[in-house]
Amino acid sequence: MRLSQMLFVTLREDPAEAEIPSHKLLLRAGYIRRVGSGLYAYLPLMWRVLQKISQIVREEMNATGAQECLLTQLQPSELWKESGRWDTYTKAEGIMFALTDRQNREVGLGPTHEEVITAIARDMIRSYRQLPQNLYQIQTKFRDEIRPRFGLMRGREFIMKDAYSFHTDETSLKQTYQEMHDAYTRILKRCGLAFRAVDADSGAIGGSGSQEFMVLAAAGEDEVLYTEDGKYAANVEKATSLPLDAEPSTFTQYEKLETPGTATIATLCDFLKCSATQIVKNVLYQAVYDNGTTVLVLVNIRGDQDVNEVKLQNELMRQAGQYGGKALLSLTVPDAEAQQKWATQPLPLGYISPGLADTYIQSSKSLAPKFLRLADPTVTNLQNFVTGSDGSGYHVVGANWGKEFELPPVVDLRKATAGDRALHDPSQTLKTARGIEIGHIFQLGTKYSEAMNATFTNEQGEELPLVMGCYGIGVSRLAQAAVEQSYDKDGIIFPVAIAPYQAIVVIPDISKADQVEAAEKLYAELNQAGIETLLDDRSERAGVKFKDAELVGIPFRIVTGRSLQQGKVEVVKRADRESQEMAIESVVPTLKQWIAEVLAS
Ligand code: ATP
Ligand code: MG
Repeated sequence: MRLSQMLFVTLREDPAEAEIPSHKLLLRAGYIRRVGSGLYAYLPLMWRVLQKISQIVREEMNATGAQECLLTQLQPSELWKESGRWDTYTKAEGIMFALTDRQNREVGLGPTHEEVITAIARDMIRSYRQLPQNLYQIQTKFRDEIRPRFGLMRGREFIMKDAYSFHTDETSLKQTYQEMHDAYTRILKRCGLAFRAVDADSGAIGGSGSQEFMVLAAAGEDEVLYTEDGKYAANVEKATSLPLDAEPSTFTQYEKLETPGTATIATLCDFLKCSATQIVKNVLYQAVYDNGTTVLVLVNIRGDQDVNEVKLQNELMRQAGQYGGKALLSLTVPDAEAQQKWATQPLPLGYISPGLADTYIQSSKSLAPKFLRLADPTVTNLQNFVTGSDGSGYHVVGANWGKEFELPPVVDLRKATAGDRALHDPSQTLKTARGIEIGHIFQLGTKYSEAMNATFTNEQGEELPLVMGCYGIGVSRLAQAAVEQSYDKDGIIFPVAIAPYQAIVVIPDISKADQVEAAEKLYAELNQAGIETLLDDRSERAGVKFKDAELVGIPFRIVTGRSLQQGKVEVVKRADRESQEMAIESVVPTLKQWIAEVLAS
């Protein structure tokens, strides 16, 4: 491609809309353009990158025996009602774009495809003889993200590879899951990315085991906790650990003390000269289920610890049945306005005790009449602890479970943090890193097949629900993550495997016939040799062309400049700026060899 003929516009200044380096660079280098909130056009350079990534994904998926298909993006609401996800995905914080068609039917724009594929499997799979199956597609997904940001990282329209597998049993599922794990590892390696596979929460998609593939970068939205022995890595949403030991209580007697102005743990510790590990903190949440029932939740956790809201959500989902709900619509810390809707009197915020009376809750059909009380394991062994008194300005000290307060059911709700000891080896402490979630693989089990009645007949003639797995990779997110991991002050340094072009021939001065001639010849020969090459034949100054080549991040730059007289050109590697004079006839074989070497490593 000739730059003189390409829709190629670079920006010198960082666009105001971009916060992180990769987003700024992709806009500046002319890879993407913003069309609307979370909506980006993939310009010709970006489309090449996306096609290269898709091709690597396709090759590795095909190598596992998975079959490519293409499902519909418009999805009938009936399917989502069958799985029970229509309301969670379209109401409150739901992320599905939903619309009504001219026949007054509700449809959604596919954020993911479990429902569609399960309906197809239900129709087509009858017998164990047809199993296992693994189908995948590479397609645009739509999600009305609450906070679209960082360009392609969190768009409202983005490209995903999603695969869905069907099995007779867990053993077969685990085998495919492992194959997908290995395929993902190869995909990310081939794309030239540094990454880590981590234990992950299974979230709204449901199911049992799952892992995320995290590309490590400071701008990552996810926090990963890991140990240096390489034996443990998990998303903080899922991570478990041993907390620091609690300090023994300095109080021996139960009493109520006046503790003015101590609504936070820090001020309370200061006032009572005690450790936060001696305090039982009581955190109030408000959960709303899809049947409209609001449940007030009171979590007891040690003062130095924080609640992991993902773990809490999962517990609330496990308890959904007893409140007549199927899904959780929202989980919030109720502010003063929210409290007015259900509280019979002002709550002693900052001074709540584990025994907060249920009479604080108004009697109403849409309100569960009692607090759902849950204790984190960090509070179970505390003795003579400090906690609220249910009276503003007062705390109690020297309290004990089974005496002053009843210990609620114990559930792990604690957020693990860097510095905690690892469960598998307490001599290892958890370290923290930022990651960009690029892929997620799930063992779904029978959640969707049971809900949607997708069954098969086994060898014994019994009818059983299909056992399922699902596996996603954010193709467009991956493209940007590669940039986030590889750039310098002058621009992008694209890994060779996914760079839009592998080489760029720059003519410093197009008024010089020898420069043009040599460049045209190299340009033709390189392309002929299968090296995807750009030709910068614009009537710009040499400095502008060099700057643009660096910004766009093409791995190899060939300059037909002064050394032409000696039959040589300058060849520069973008990654380390290593530059050499090279005989013209060596350029094609040398680049061929360099590219082959990088792609093989
Ligand atoms: P996140 O937690 O980042 O929102 P997710 O858990 O919703 O991701 P999945 O439903 O597992 O993501 O989707 C599979 C993959 O699709 C993700 O691993 C990610 O790479 C990509 N992806 C998800 N949401 C977006 C988005 N809004 N924009 C770009 N890529 C996305
Ligand atoms: Mg998401």
